[in-house]
Amino acid sequence: MKKVVKFGGSSLASAEQFKKVGAIIKADPARRFVVPSAPGKRYDGDTKVTDLLYACYEKAVNGEEFSDFFQKIQDRYNEIINGLGIALSLEKEFSTIKNQFENQAGRDYAASRGEFLNGIVMAAYLGFEFIDAADVICFNENGEFESEKTDQKLKASLEGKEHVVIPGFYGAKPDGTIQTFSRGGSDVTGSIVAKAILADVYENWTDVSGFLVADPRIIKDSKVIETITYRELRELSYMGATVLHEDAIFPVRKEGIPIHILNTNAPQDPGTLIVESTCRVPKYTITGIAGKKGFASISIDKDMMNSEIGFGRKVLQVFEENEIAFEHMPSGIDTMTVFVHQDEFEQKEQKIISGIHRAVHPDYMELESDLALIAVVGRGMRATRGTAARIFSALAHARINVKMIDQGSSELNVIIGVKNNDFEDAIKAIYDIFVTTQI
Ligand code: ASP
Repeated sequence: MKKVVKFGGSSLASAEQFKKVGAIIKADPARRFVVPSAPGKRYDGDTKVTDLLYACYEKAVNGEEFSDFFQKIQDRYNEIINGLGIALSLEKEFSTIKNQFENQAGRDYAASRGEFLNGIVMAAYLGFEFIDAADVICFNENGEFESEKTDQKLKASLEGKEHVVIPGFYGAKPDGTIQTFSRGGSDVTGSIVAKAILADVYENWTDVSGFLVADPRIIKDSKVIETITYRELRELSYMGATVLHEDAIFPVRKEGIPIHILNTNAPQDPGTLIVESTCRVPKYTITGIAGKKGFASISIDKDMMNSEIGFGRKVLQVFEENEIAFEHMPSGIDTMTVFVHQDEFEQKEQKIISGIHRAVHPDYMELESDLALIAVVGRGMRATRGTAARIFSALAHARINVKMIDQGSSELNVIIGVKNNDFEDAIKAIYDIFVTTQI
């Protein structure tokens, strides 16, 4: 068994947290490839090391004195090192980094040092070999990730190695300039390493016990999703559920490697397993509920719309020309409705309306704002009769008016449009009917 284990910032925020991580790694000999983030927040209101680095570099670029600020970063690492009681000094690295800040080595370079330094500490603490991500994670001159080249380099450098630490979040361009992924990108590094070594599983350790069925800000003590497919996860993350960086799915998915989301602070919890496909039946028919507020809808009516060839294309072209992406497009015989993000749409509203008038000469048009979309996602819906009926009777009982219904052809999700101020109640009603009443 080979496992890649990635630990997020809050899992590595202090010496105490490092010790938990050490115990987790020691508990399973398959946990041989470790990808750490930079130290995150220790408590509410604390600042992540990555944010300290960005701010400190900003000072350096503006020609301001930054030594005092940099000292805060040094203190964070020294506190961890002292708390772990290891014989390690980062003084040489600190002074190189300060020099590089003075030479304006780049924002990405600055941010990446959080993971770089944490990788060195982690390797020393565990007695593992340290491999600099700059030597194995490749970007091209334009800053785009190079998956083939990276895969080859990683395979070559990890060949025959027993225990390795590779810092997350960054790599390098061909000329050696440091480049980072977008924020939260250590998740992506973990996935890339898992793919290269063909790991049995990619464990992603964080500060929650997996994906929740619904947003905990709306549903207190929401149940955890035990198993979810990549496709379901895509639907839920698109609709706002976040635990994992979106791009972390793709490398492992190609190789059919599952991702296991686990909690550093409660390692005994089963967590969430993300898989390509599974015959495990979801516990509650639905896998999860997610949603977003802030949509507007543009409804267009025209007699005989259904027989007018190219009608939909002409309407959508108006949105395209105004660079507005559409989210959903339910339609009837003589009507079609386009859902868009309200804040983007508002600025271009009048241009789009006149554009549609000119393009398709509608009989009637109506705009509605302050709408929310809710996605009810679940592979289990395909095999279960009455799911839609349960959703809509729950909403009716909660006195919520449904503005729009859209069921994907895969039967994996049902999208429901409601007014923004019905959003929370709608999610509660759906959660209750599928989860609370099933317990
Ligand atoms: N440290 C980086 C961030 O704060 C990357 C990561 O944590 O994955 O975004």
